[in-house]
Amino acid sequence: MKKFECPHCHKNTITALKKAFAGGPASKGTVCPECGGHVTNDSKSLGFKTVVKSVCLLVIIAAVYFDLGIWYCLGAFAFSFVLPWAVNMFCFGTAKTLRNDVQNKKVPGRGE
Ligand SMILES: [Zn+2]
Repeated sequence: MKKFECPHCHKNTITALKKAFAGGPASKGTVCPECGGHVTNDSKSLGFKTVVKSVCLLVIIAAVYFDLGIWYCLGAFAFSFVLPWAVNMFCFGTAKTLRNDVQNKKVPGRGE
């Protein structure tokens, strides 16, 4: 189980809530409280998010096409954000951020 493991120090420091908002490998992610390294969700999570967003886009297009009303569109739009967050909390692994500007910097005052 590497779901809540920090990829830098390999301790289980990442909480479900932090992980839900950590974003994909290209984001800054969340900061590990133990070592100060930046942690994001892995590329599988990004792939899942891409699929969910694509499906929701199709639903929105269908809702417009069949004239189902604005609430179907807004519902699908909200769903495309909420589902990846919920799934990130409990599935997929963690990864180091790919961003060069934060990758090797530690937050001052945390860790070694
Ligand atoms: Zn760490």
